[in-house]
Amino acid sequence: MDTTFSHLIDGELIAGRQHFDVVNPATGAPFARCPDATREDLERAMAAAARAFAGDWSRDEALRRRTLVHMSEVLGAAADEIGRLVCMEQGKPLAAAVGEVKGAAQILRVYADEPIPRDVLREDTKARVTLVRKPLGVVAAITPWNYPVATLVMKLGPALLTGNTVVAKPSPFTPLSSLALGAALRAAIPAAVVNVLGGSDEVGAWMTAHPAVRKISFTGSVPTGKKIMRAAADDLKRVTLELGGNDPAIVLPDVDPAKVAPRLFWGAFTNSGQVCVAIKRLYVHEDVFRPVVSALIELARQVKVGDGLEPDTQLGPINNGPQFGRVQELVEDARRAGGRSRWAARRSGPPATSSRRPSSPAWARACALSTRSSSAPRSPVIPYRDLDDALAQANRTHYGLGGSVWTGNVARGEELAQRLECGTAWVNQHMTISAKVPFGGMKWSGLGRENGKWGIEEFCELQVVNAART
Ligand code: NAD
Repeated sequence: MDTTFSHLIDGELIAGRQHFDVVNPATGAPFARCPDATREDLERAMAAAARAFAGDWSRDEALRRRTLVHMSEVLGAAADEIGRLVCMEQGKPLAAAVGEVKGAAQILRVYADEPIPRDVLREDTKARVTLVRKPLGVVAAITPWNYPVATLVMKLGPALLTGNTVVAKPSPFTPLSSLALGAALRAAIPAAVVNVLGGSDEVGAWMTAHPAVRKISFTGSVPTGKKIMRAAADDLKRVTLELGGNDPAIVLPDVDPAKVAPRLFWGAFTNSGQVCVAIKRLYVHEDVFRPVVSALIELARQVKVGDGLEPDTQLGPINNGPQFGRVQELVEDARRAGGRSRWAARRSGPPATSSRRPSSPAWARACALSTRSSSAPRSPVIPYRDLDDALAQANRTHYGLGGSVWTGNVARGEELAQRLECGTAWVNQHMTISAKVPFGGMKWSGLGRENGKWGIEEFCELQVVNAART
C-alpha cells in the first residue's frame, strides 16, 4: 500500500513539510504518516478556494452537476482502495468501510440531481418577486473520525451543488481516507474548488478564524462545536454544527423481545458504538426487561470483535485512547450506580496511556449492563414501570440528536416519538439516515440540518429579487 499522502491544494498534490503518525487501532502501531498543514499551506488553500469561487464555478450550475456525477463515478471506482484505508485508520470491518465509501459515492450522485430551490413569491401586473439561493463562498468542512468519508461527502455534495468552494480538514485520527479521496477526485473537480488538508485540531481552529471562510460546516463533539460557534461570531460566519448525542430508546411492554433485541443491539453497537446516533440509553418496560437483557447479553457474547481486516470481524476496535477511556468510564459509572456488567469492556496489551493515540489496540467487547438505578446518568439498560417517567428521563439531557420508541403498535409509537426532544425520533428502528431526509440535533446536539433540501439551504444565502413591471 502507498503510505505517502499529500494535501490537495489548488488542484495540486502538495507534500507535507511536517508530518504526524496515523495509528491502526487494531494493532496499536503507526502505519502511515499524515502531512500536517502549516499556516502557509492553509493560506494557499484559502486563497485558491476564494479564487475558484469568484470564477465560473459559482455561476455555472450545469458544470457543477456534471462534476458531481463525475465525482460519484470516480469515488465509486476507488471504493475498495479508500475503504481499506478507512478500515485501517478507523478500525471498522472492511466490508463496512468499503460500504461507507460506496454509500458516499451514491450521496454525491443524489446531489447531482437535487433541485436548488427557487420560489416565485409574487407575480402579477405590478411586480415579480423571486427568492433565489446564492452560494456563500468558501466553506470550511471539518469532520470527525467515526465516519470519515461519509461525514465529508455529506458536506461536499450540497456545498458544491450550490456553488460554494471547500477547504476540508479531516480528524487527525482518520485523515488518510479524506486525503486519498482528494487525490482520487482531483481529476474530476475543477482546480481549487475542493482543497483537502491533513492537520491537527489547531489547523481546524485556524480555519474557523480565517477571513476567507463564509461558512463552517462541522461534525464533531459538543465542546469543539461551542468553540467553533464562538470563533464564528466575530465575522458572523454561518455555521452548521452536527454534534454528539445521548440517544434514548424506549421499549414498550408489547414488543417481542427476541425480535427487537438484535435491532436494539445493532442500534447501540454498530461501528463499535462510535456513532453519534447510537442508542446510548435503553429504557425497557419491566414486563420485558429480563428477556430483552438476556437476549442482548447473548448477542454481546456471540459477536466477533477483532481486526477489521479479518473477514469474520463484526466489530472493530475502539478508534483511539481517549475514546476507549470514555467507554471504560461509562462501564465503571454504571457499576458504581449498582449496575451489573455481564460482558465487560476489556483491553488487550499494556494499559492505556493518556495520549491521543492508543499505545496498544483498544478492544471493547460489546457490553450489556443492567441496573436497577434509574438515576444513574449513563446506565444503558434501565427498567421502567411508568411510561411518562421514562419519557421524562429520556428527555432529561442537554443532548437531542436521536431517539426511538419500540412497540407493536406503530401508530402509538409515532405519537410517543413526538414526545422525544430530538432531531430524529424513530419507531422500531434506530440510526436510519438518508441523503434526502434532514438530519441534525436539537439542544446541544447541533445547529442546522444536513441532507435533503434543508441541508442544501444551509449552504445558501437567501436573496430576494424584486422587480417592478414598468
Ligand atoms: P472533535 O470535536 O474532537 O473533532 C472533530 C474535528 O474538529 C476534528 O477534525 C478536529 O481536528 C477538529 N477540531 C478540534 N478542535 C477544533 C477547534 N478548536 N476548531 C476547529 N476544529 C477543531 O470530535 P471527534 O472526537 O473527532 O468526533 C467524535 C464526535 O463527533 C462525537 O461526539 C460524535 O457524537 C460526533 N459526531 C456527530 C455526528 C452528527 O452528525 N451529529 C456525526 C458523527 C460524529
